[in-house]
Amino acid sequence: MDTDVPAVVERIYQDVLRRNPGETEFHQAVREVLDSLTVVLARHREYSEMKTIERICEPERQVIFRVPWQDDQGEVWINRGFRVEFNSALGPYKGGLRFHPSVNLGIVKFLGFEQVFKNALTGMPIGGGKGGSDFDPKGRSDAEVMRFCQSFMTELYRHLGEYTDVPAGDIGVGAREIGYLFGQYKRITNRYESGVLTGKGLGWGGAQVRTEATGYGAAFFAAAMMAVRGDSFDGKRVTVSGSGNVAVYAIEKVHQRGGTVVACSDSSGHVVDERGIDLEVLKQVKEVERARISGYADRVPSARFVEGGSIWDVPCDVAIPSATQNELDADAARALIGNGCRYVVEGANMPTTPDAVRVLREAGVAFAPGKAANAGGVATSALEMQQNASRDRWTFQHSEQRLEEIMRGIHARCHETAEEYGAPGDLVLGANVAGFLQVAEAVHAHGLV
Ligand code: NDP
Repeated sequence: MDTDVPAVVERIYQDVLRRNPGETEFHQAVREVLDSLTVVLARHREYSEMKTIERICEPERQVIFRVPWQDDQGEVWINRGFRVEFNSALGPYKGGLRFHPSVNLGIVKFLGFEQVFKNALTGMPIGGGKGGSDFDPKGRSDAEVMRFCQSFMTELYRHLGEYTDVPAGDIGVGAREIGYLFGQYKRITNRYESGVLTGKGLGWGGAQVRTEATGYGAAFFAAAMMAVRGDSFDGKRVTVSGSGNVAVYAIEKVHQRGGTVVACSDSSGHVVDERGIDLEVLKQVKEVERARISGYADRVPSARFVEGGSIWDVPCDVAIPSATQNELDADAARALIGNGCRYVVEGANMPTTPDAVRVLREAGVAFAPGKAANAGGVATSALEMQQNASRDRWTFQHSEQRLEEIMRGIHARCHETAEEYGAPGDLVLGANVAGFLQVAEAVHAHGLV
């Protein structure tokens, strides 16, 4: 057996490249984790001997399927559906569905891979998976979205189950889509299996705080990160990219904690509002009207809309990228640093490019990776499954308190693991190593499966 740890890690990475050609986001996610794992392999020879990392890099199952549906004019469309059941060592596959035209196998695999470690970090009994479709819900009527969801679930249902695989929302999949998906699952299976999907409506099995959980969780994580530096949100200028589920509730919690979010965005541009983003207006524009972010500036006199430009040019103390992968590159990182930013906390999955992470780290900016900072969503999904299984309902206050404890716990675990492995303050290493160790121990215990 090869004892040259960096050579082993490089061989694993080259293998991943060879076996998954063209899946650049997946390669990027694997590279980042592998870079953190050399310190682990140096201490745990058994993980090399049993090819534990290689097994974790290979999904247990990948499903790709056709999704035919008809629009309101009767035209037929064919989309592609995906579900990557990545790892079930810790529990049923768990992870969201993304509906966005950019979705392909590589993106679903990167998200599924990240999800494995994220779910492990929560300490809850959930494995990792992810899915979605290249369907674009933007501009589609409710009836069209419903027909698409029904067709999607007509194939996907056979792979799901509360003890098998439990999807939730992600980009383009919110309460409306989860409702249609659940309805079709219930109809096909003739089972009211509440725990088969999370993010359900509050009146039919959903959990308090699930809607808010990822955004609130990112803010709680940021607060914990600041606290170890004797700092807080109080009086801070904050920018949050995106204006979807994660962004909206990150903004809400930052405001509650004394910070001011001065800018947010969507794929058409960003708005700057020095008086602080007015959440009621933002929700009306983005959630109710499903309109473009410029609608916010049309209504709020203190705001201006910037078409196309980078939100990271807006001066801030704290940046919370909460839109999509690779949205914050090295130039954006330099702009943030030049304007005095001291914290970058990923609300989205892998929004910061590897070069940008390097630039931020060299400048001493505290950086929180998404797999730790945005784990509040899936953690609260696990709480939703727990309530479904016990036919129980918790209050908002109790659920929020649980979420905050979980986020503080994840931060502490990443922080302490980084120290233990000789990289104090490196939350990327801390998250990757702590998540990996939890999964690897279970994978190892289950034998060669
Ligand atoms: P939403 O669909 O609710 O919102 C996504 C937001 O990001 C929208 O404002 C959207 O703008 C913007 N956006 C999406 N793609 C792009 C793009 N290519 N360029 C610029 N802006 C873009 O999704 P969520 O808020 O649920 O998810 C956001 C991120 O958080 C994703 O990375 C997701 O994987 C991650 N995440 C989500 C969790 C959840 O519980 N929802 C849990 C953990 C992570 P527009 O409206 O113009 O498309």
